[in-house]
Amino acid sequence: MTLADAYALALLAGTLGVAIGWCIGRYNRRTDASRAERAARPPGPHPVAVADELALALHTLATSCCLTAAVTAGAEHDTTTCTRKDQTL
Ligand SMILES: [Zn+2]
Repeated sequence: MTLADAYALALLAGTLGVAIGWCIGRYNRRTDASRAERAARPPGPHPVAVADELALALHTLATSCCLTAAVTAGAEHDTTTCTRKDQTL
């Protein structure tokens, strides 16, 4: 092994050491941040997520007979275009 080979090997080992140290530090920082975020959350049941609310709204729209019924939770119907036959309003 020449001096140049030893130097290259030492440089490679040093670079790998720095990279591994950076990854471990990043993992620890992210773990600490997520632990702090979880500790800051209020206990108990959490409100429905925005994505869940959007999914529920799209399901309501897809299963409603008309837009007015979807908006009013079935209390009213569009009297001109609704296909529901038993409209009471
Ligand atoms: Zn309707």
